[in-house]
Amino acid sequence: MALPQAPKLLITPEDSWQGLRLLPLPYSSSDFAPGKKPGDTMLDSTQPGGASLLVSLGPAEEITLETLRRAGGQAARWLLEHEHAQVGLPVAMLDALEIPGALEAFCTGLVLGAYRFDHYRAKPPENQALRPLQAIHLLHSGDGGDLALQASRWQADLSGVYLARSIAHEPPNVINPASLAQRASEIAQASGLSFRVLDAADLQALGAGALLAVGQGSQGGARLIVLEYPGSGAGLGQPPVIVVGKAITFDTGGYSIKDRVNMVGMKYDKAGGAAVLGILQAAAEMRLSTPLVGLIPAAENMISADAYRPNDILTTLSGKTVEVISADAEGRLVLADALTYAQRQYQPRAIIDLATLTGGVVIALGKVRAGLMSNDDALAQSLFEAGERSGERLWRLPLDDDYFELIKGDDSDFKNSSELRQAHPIVGGIFLKQFIEPGIPWAHLDIAGPATADKDLPYSPKGATGFGVRLVLDYLSTL
Ligand SMILES: [Zn+2]
Repeated sequence: MALPQAPKLLITPEDSWQGLRLLPLPYSSSDFAPGKKPGDTMLDSTQPGGASLLVSLGPAEEITLETLRRAGGQAARWLLEHEHAQVGLPVAMLDALEIPGALEAFCTGLVLGAYRFDHYRAKPPENQALRPLQAIHLLHSGDGGDLALQASRWQADLSGVYLARSIAHEPPNVINPASLAQRASEIAQASGLSFRVLDAADLQALGAGALLAVGQGSQGGARLIVLEYPGSGAGLGQPPVIVVGKAITFDTGGYSIKDRVNMVGMKYDKAGGAAVLGILQAAAEMRLSTPLVGLIPAAENMISADAYRPNDILTTLSGKTVEVISADAEGRLVLADALTYAQRQYQPRAIIDLATLTGGVVIALGKVRAGLMSNDDALAQSLFEAGERSGERLWRLPLDDDYFELIKGDDSDFKNSSELRQAHPIVGGIFLKQFIEPGIPWAHLDIAGPATADKDLPYSPKGATGFGVRLVLDYLSTL
């Protein structure tokens, strides 16, 4: 089945465009017809040269990249409702704001706000468009050369978000570790990435006992998916940044089973892995300078006679042993072996993991910011700043070694969870830190909050948001 495709950003001479134009404008005074809120719209059919949709950007002094994205997202919703498959956007209107990144931000909102995951529907729900938004024509008066180059970068970035959203959205009867590996291989082939997958037998031979244990209750078992992008230009031959994404294709909680309310939505427990796919595809399409490796430990956390249990003691790939306290704290187990693999197989410049790891981080930070934990202040600061720029925001939590007390083992080196209701996101982080060698800059992003939207957001419909793709690509573009 074809996944949703991001609308194309096309470069079109201003005087040749006949269709609907979007006119983004700062709110000026109380007689400003579209309205005061960013994204308020008004159709104006009286303009010479065809109909225009006026889009409010809010008061001029309050315009930020985020309000521009939100206004773009609202405009996309209007376009979908009115079944406009094509629209023109005069570039000069955004340039006139004199805010660096304004055009990219508005386009980001437009493209991401147009996302719909509807290919399983026999017919669209009421009031929803039959036609997706197919193209946004960036209307310009010059030769458009620089603009074309920039737009192709944005296109790669936003297509990465589309991919991440769609993979996370896919139901668990379609995406399991084996079919995820199949999808990853197709993406790799189309984007020119190198691909390999370690199946249960390979992981057994390697000794990846933690990842294997999580997958052993399901048919087909676990996979470790490996994607490599060599970099370009001056980046060729440099040490890679490694992005690791948790992909639990469905999380029942295992024998620490979730209740029926909290089990629904657990298809999104693969959102970290989905983001890694999006990041790798985008990096290849935009010919990013920095070499990149994507590791996706994939498993389905199920119940069966073969499933792992609380009190099992697992030997991880690192050789360190872990007693299972909660079979529902499985994400950190699959990540542990992937992190060890990352450091054995490569000499990483930095490692960033993305995981819907804890409910605790949602208690702490809600769905606005993801938790950031790191052993490296410079990396943490760079990621934090990328979050502020991209709107995929982070907040740093501590990782003092004192927290290790919470997971100190009784009969094993350590435990995968604490019996105490204390510092859950940090317990996840301090667990992962046990698998990081000294001197390797590492950051753990607990994206359990913002990876999904409970309701339609200005530029992300309800469901998977693709959180992390734009954030990590922004960070990578600064290296
Ligand atoms: Zn779980």
